[in-house]
Amino acid sequence: MKGAPTLTPATLPDPVWVAAPHPDDEALGCGGLIAALGAAGREVWALLLSDGGLSHPSSPSHPRERLAAARLAEWREGLAELGVPAVRTRALGLPDGELHACAGAIAGGARAAFREAPPGTLLLPWARDPHPDHRAAWAPLLEAARAFPAVRRLAYTVWLEERGDSADHPRPGETLPLTLDVRPWLAPKRRAILAHRTQLGLIADDPRGFTLPVTLVERALGGTETYHEVLPQEVPA
Ligand SMILES: [Zn+2]
Repeated sequence: MKGAPTLTPATLPDPVWVAAPHPDDEALGCGGLIAALGAAGREVWALLLSDGGLSHPSSPSHPRERLAAARLAEWREGLAELGVPAVRTRALGLPDGELHACAGAIAGGARAAFREAPPGTLLLPWARDPHPDHRAAWAPLLEAARAFPAVRRLAYTVWLEERGDSADHPRPGETLPLTLDVRPWLAPKRRAILAHRTQLGLIADDPRGFTLPVTLVERALGGTETYHEVLPQEVPA
């Protein structure tokens, strides 16, 4: 976003929590920032909402349970590349594709996780990021964060540039856009994204299987991350 102020990672209060609806959202949306924080020895925690088990619904080699286990392992592997150890990860295991029906479980699960390390900063997917699970995560995550009044809330985007229309973008004054030059962190960010092998063509026996678009991955590795800081008057979901 041209002209937006620069985000200074050192000013974000610890601990920093990153919430991901699916394994890979954190790497694609904010892998550079997480890597920068990790390299600085900062305390970063990660919360995974869904089991990621819907990406390959008819794979004989990867029935749902196996797929979900593989994706959880990939998630932790990618986070380790960014400096977040497995001990600072929490996974709610909610059903992929059905987060719209899980508001209470997201809010309750997130609140319980946050109590273990009360967040100074929360990174969460933008309210109108164009994926139903991402949109469904917004209100319950903000609700969980409300128990920690001083928390800074920064929205990241995954699908907005790929699929969003103009109404999906934050409106002027709705949030405070901030940009971060992540070129120094592209190597770990790339490794974190590539850890998600099931989303990058590993599973070849499901014609309905999902693969991350090349354009989305290239954009994620473009060198800039944009955040939208949530202002005190919250954005309705
Ligand atoms: Zn996602």
